[in-house]
Amino acid sequence: MDDSTPTTQVDVAIVGAGPIGLCFANALSRRGVSSVLIDRQPRSAMADPGNDGREIALTRASQQILDRLDVWSRIDHDERALMCAAKVFDGQSLFTMEIAPGATRDDPLGCLVPNQVIRRAAYAALQSGAPGTGDILWRDEQEIARFRVSDAAVDIQLGSGERIQVSLLVAADSRFSTTRRAMGIPAHIYQHGQQMLVCRMHHDEPHDQTAWEWFGYGHTLALLPVDTHCSSLVLTLSPAAMEKQLSLSDEAFDADITRRFEGRLGAMRRVAEPHCYPLVSVYAERFVGHRQALVGDAAVGMHPVTAHGFNLGLQGLSGLAERIGQAHARGQDIASPELLSRYQREQRLATAPLFAATLAIVGLYTDDRTPARWLRKAVLRAGEAAWPARRLIASHLMRSGG
Ligand SMILES: Cc1cc2nc3c(=O)[nH]c(=O)nc-3n(C[C@H](O)[C@H](O)[C@H](O)COP(=O)(O)OP(=O)(O)OC[C@H]3O[C@@H](n4cnc5c(N)ncnc54)[C@H](O)[C@@H]3O)c2cc1C
Repeated sequence: MDDSTPTTQVDVAIVGAGPIGLCFANALSRRGVSSVLIDRQPRSAMADPGNDGREIALTRASQQILDRLDVWSRIDHDERALMCAAKVFDGQSLFTMEIAPGATRDDPLGCLVPNQVIRRAAYAALQSGAPGTGDILWRDEQEIARFRVSDAAVDIQLGSGERIQVSLLVAADSRFSTTRRAMGIPAHIYQHGQQMLVCRMHHDEPHDQTAWEWFGYGHTLALLPVDTHCSSLVLTLSPAAMEKQLSLSDEAFDADITRRFEGRLGAMRRVAEPHCYPLVSVYAERFVGHRQALVGDAAVGMHPVTAHGFNLGLQGLSGLAERIGQAHARGQDIASPELLSRYQREQRLATAPLFAATLAIVGLYTDDRTPARWLRKAVLRAGEAAWPARRLIASHLMRSGG
C-alpha cells in the first residue's frame, strides 16, 4: 500500500450498495456515523435498478425497520401486494392444507414488494443528502484492491488508487462475497443442484390474494399473488429441465405452466421476462473479525424457498447500527471486540435455526423418492391438525419466494 497517497477518513466502509448496504448506510447516518459505500456498479444502476423478477415477502418487523429508515413511505401502495391466505398442494392429490384462512386485508399474512422497488426506494432515501448527521460518501464503479488491518484502523486502497481509513470494514457484497474471502472468513456453501425461475404470469381466474405452494413430482411450484389476475410464478427444476423450459416458445411456455397448475387458475400467460437463479445457500463460519463484519447475504445467504434472506439481513443491520450508534455517542470504539461479538452472537441466534430448518425443508420437498413423499403427506396432515406445525408452514409460506 502506497503510504504517500492522501487518505480519506470515514467511520465505516461498506462494500456493496445492494438493499442491505444502502439500508445500513442509512441507519448509521441517522446515528451520526459516517460511511463510504463502495460498489462495482455505476450509480445509475443503483438509482434505477432493473427488474430481477424477485418478489420479496416482507415481515412486519421488516416493514417497521424500513419505515424508520424512510424507505417504506417511498414504496407506492399499489407496489405492495397483500397475501391473505396460503394453500399447500402435494403431488397429484387434491388434498390441500389452507394456512390462516382467517387472515384479512386488514390483518394479512404478509406483504410482497418487487426487489427493484425496494432497492430504488432504499437508494432514494439516501438522495436528499445524508438522512442524518453522518455523511455518506459514494465510490461507485469501484472495488477494494487491498486492505490492511491494524489495532486502531483499517486502511483500504480502492482500484482507483484512492486510500480510505476507517474504524470498521463491513462486507455487504452478496452471498458470493469476495470481501469475506479477503477477510479470511470461511463459509459453508451448499450447492442445491437446482435452479429457480421467477416471472409474472397473468391468469384468467382471480387468486383471492392467496399464495399457492405445490410440491409436484420433478418440480416445485409456487404462485405469489400480485394483482387480482396476476401472480409471480416460482418454478424450481434441475438445470437440464430448466434449459428445456427456457427454450420453449412463448405459447409453449404458457401452455406448459397452465398444465403444471392443472388449469386451476384458467389459462396462464407470461407477462414479464423470466429470471433464473442457481440455488446456493451460504452460512459464514464467523460474522466478524478484527475491525470487520459481515451483513446481509455476505453473512447468511438463505435458500429463497423460505425467503428470509432480506428480512434477516435487515434485522441484523438494524441491531449492528444501533450498537455502533451507542458506542459513537459515548465516544467509544465503534468496532470493539465486545461490540462485534455481541452482534455475531445475536445474529447467529436469529439465523442458525432458520437456516437449518430451511435446508431440512428443501431436502424434504425436493426428494421425490417414496419415503419422502409419504413424509410430506404426513407433515401436511399433521399441519392441518396441529397448530404449531401449521404455524411453521405458514411462516414458511408467508415469506416464500419459492
Ligand atoms: C428468487 C429470490 C427470491 C427471494 N425472495 C425473498 C423474500 O421473499 N424475502 C426475503 O427476505 N428475501 C428474499 N430473497 C433474498 C434477498 O433477495 C437477498 O437476501 C437480498 O437481496 C440480499 O441483499 P444484499 O444487499 O445482502 O446482497 P445483494 O442484493 O446481492 O447486493 C450485493 C451488492 O454488492 C455489490 N458487489 C458485489 N461484489 C462486489 C465487490 N467485490 N465490490 C463492490 N461491490 C460488490 C453488487 O453490485 C450489489 O450491489 C430472495 C432471493 C431470490 C434469489
